[in-house]
Amino acid sequence: MKERITVVKIGGAFLENESELETISRKFASMQGKRILVHGGGKRASQISQALGIEPKLIGGRRITDRKTLEVVTMVYGGWANKNLVGRLQSLGCNAIGLSGADADLIRAVRRPVKEVDYGYVGDVESVNVASLQLLLRAGLTPVFCALTHNGKGQLLNTNADTVAAEIAKALGGEYRTSLYYCFDKKGVLRDLNDPNSVIAHLDQATFRDLEGKGIIAEGMMPKLHNSFGALEGGVEEVCIGPPELMTGNAGIFTKLSL
Ligand code: ADP
Repeated sequence: MKERITVVKIGGAFLENESELETISRKFASMQGKRILVHGGGKRASQISQALGIEPKLIGGRRITDRKTLEVVTMVYGGWANKNLVGRLQSLGCNAIGLSGADADLIRAVRRPVKEVDYGYVGDVESVNVASLQLLLRAGLTPVFCALTHNGKGQLLNTNADTVAAEIAKALGGEYRTSLYYCFDKKGVLRDLNDPNSVIAHLDQATFRDLEGKGIIAEGMMPKLHNSFGALEGGVEEVCIGPPELMTGNAGIFTKLSL
């Protein structure tokens, strides 16, 4: 029987202050078995960009990663956010190793082709190097990924953290029974954004399309759900969206996805 592995993606909101970070690190460190952490960015990158006089560029509500922004997100996501998280996990007895997709050639991506919009240095994942990831896992290390990838030709690429988590989970499906947990600042996928308790406990693709059509699923929830169904189609056994308590098994209500 294949061993289980859990890929946990934590939202940017948990990186905003030290007490949130401590709480989330404790939950992740207390998990049993093999696991991988993927983290988003949080507001810090925008704050530092502004402090440096780099004006955020948005087209249709989407951030454009120009060269200067890529430098900032690499420093913030790959530097402070990643190492701060790793340091905390180490203090809790979890032997974490901080990684980007460029390290050990773990995640290759291609720069998103320019159509109506040029998103800049943004990558779409092409491959995950399972053999190298296995070396780390077998050595008893716990990978902690920031959402940066590379194209193998010297170019780093800013990549959606939800996608990074889903692609890692899918790639490991051949070797492990994989679970994918998206932990964020709500209890799950909500039927009504104004009612924090309106959690949809079971969400299948047909219901998703219906809710999407009605505009109930919006903003950051869209990539999470597209990635979630993609992961299930790609062989991931279990995909859940909910609060950080998903990690400790006491989330109460949360969203479980099915095809
Ligand atoms: P994270 O960085 O935590 O992954 P995102 O901002 O990318 O978070 O996405 C989560 C956000 O999606 C929520 O905070 C919420 O504002 C928004 N959202 C939109 N539609 C929904 C919905 N139906 N249920 C829950 N959250 C939703």
